Amino acid sequence: MSYQDQDPLVWSAIQQEAARQNRNIELIASENFASQGVRAAQGSVLTNKYAEGYPYKRYYGGTEYVDVIEQVAIDRLKALFGAEYANVQPHSGSQANAAAYMAFLKPGDKILGMDLDAGGHLTHGAKVSFSGKIYESHTYGVDSDSERLDYDDIARIARQVKPQMIVAGASAYSRIIDFQKFRDIADEVGAYLMVDMAHIAGLVAAGLHPNPVGIADVVTSTTHKTLRGPRGGIILSQEKYAKQLNSAIFPGSQGGPLEHVVAAKAVAFGEALQPSFKDYAQQVITNAQAMADVFSASADIRVVTGGTDNHLFNLDLTQTGLNGKQTQELLDSVSITTNKEALPNEQLSPFVTSGIRIGTPAITTRGFNEQDAQQVAHFIEQAIHQHDDSQALKAIKQQVEILSMAHRFA
Ligand code: PLP
Repeated sequence: MSYQDQDPLVWSAIQQEAARQNRNIELIASENFASQGVRAAQGSVLTNKYAEGYPYKRYYGGTEYVDVIEQVAIDRLKALFGAEYANVQPHSGSQANAAAYMAFLKPGDKILGMDLDAGGHLTHGAKVSFSGKIYESHTYGVDSDSERLDYDDIARIARQVKPQMIVAGASAYSRIIDFQKFRDIADEVGAYLMVDMAHIAGLVAAGLHPNPVGIADVVTSTTHKTLRGPRGGIILSQEKYAKQLNSAIFPGSQGGPLEHVVAAKAVAFGEALQPSFKDYAQQVITNAQAMADVFSASADIRVVTGGTDNHLFNLDLTQTGLNGKQTQELLDSVSITTNKEALPNEQLSPFVTSGIRIGTPAITTRGFNEQDAQQVAHFIEQAIHQHDDSQALKAIKQQVEILSMAHRFA
C-alpha cells in the first residue's frame, strides 16, 4: 500500500496545499519556494538520526555521515557570510534568538529592540514573547515623518536605558539598516550588539545589503526567507564566542539537532554560493521596487517610507476605506496571499491593522520579472478599488491564477 493510501487525509491535504501554492500569487515577505534538492534533503533518512553534540564530538554512535553533512553546512555558511563561527543547529529563528540572548545575558538584563509596530519581531522583546518575559525589554521605533530608523533617537534611548544588548533587525522594514551606526551606539553605552538578519539574509549573502558579520557580536537568521532554504535558524559570530554560543544551543536550549534540516540547509547554502543566486536576489529587489512604483502612483494607497531598498514594503490603506484584515481577506478571495501588517503609530488592533506587507522573494523564485510584478500590483490595486464588485473580483481572480500557473514551481 502506498503512503498516500495509508494516510489519505494527510496526503490529500499536502496535495491540495501544493495546488494552492501553484495557483496563488505568494506575496508573504517571509516565505519562499525551496528547491527540490532542499526538499529532498529535508525529507531524507536523516530524520531518523540522533546526533546530540557537534561534528566529531557527539553523544551518540553512528554519526560519521551526519558529521560530514553538518560540517559542510557550517563551512558553506561561514564562506557565504565571511564568518569565523557558525552554528547551523537552531530549529528556528526564534530558537536562534533565544540562544543568542542566553549566551550573552542573564535573566533580568535589559535588551533594546525595534518596536513591533515599527517592524520589529516578537523575539526582539515583545511582552508576549519569552524575550519580553525573561529580559527587561525596551524599544525604539522609527521617525514619525520619514518612517525610517532615527539613529540619533536610538542613541538617546540607549543612553537612557543602558541596555546590556541592542538588537538590530526587523520583519517589516523596507530600508537599508546601518549596522555600523548600531555598533557605535552599542559601544558608547557598553552593550553587546545582536543583528537578526532573518529577512534580508539572502540579500546580504548576495552582497546587496551591508553585511552585519564582523560588526555585530552575534548575528542570527532564519534560513527560509530570502535565503531560500528549509525552515530553520542559524547563528554567526566570532571564534571567541564559539563555546558560549554552542552551549547555549546544546544543551542550553535544544536537544538533538534536526540533521535532515541541517542537510537541507547545506544544500541551500551551496545554492546561495552560486553566481546565479546574486541574479535572483537582484531580481527580488527589482521586483519589489517595480511594485512599489505602481502603488506610489495611486491616489489612495500609500507606500510606507515611499519605497523600498529590499525585498518588501508595507502599504498604508487608511485612505482606501479598507483596513489590513479586510484587504488580506479581499486579496485571498482573488488568490493573492499577503498578510495584514501593523504600521508605525498604528491606531488599530494587531488583529485588524491599517496595512498589509508585500514581499517578492517567492514570486521571484517562480520566475516573475518586473513586468509580471507590476501586473500583480495592478491586480491588487484593482481588487481594492473594486472590492464590492463581485464580477470584477471574479475576473481578477481568473487573471491572477493564469499568471500564477504560467510560473509553476517544480
Ligand atoms: N526574526 C525575524 C526578524 C523574523 O522576521 C522572524 C520570523 O518571521 C523570526 C526571527 C522568527 O523565525 P521563526 O519563525 O523561524 O521562529
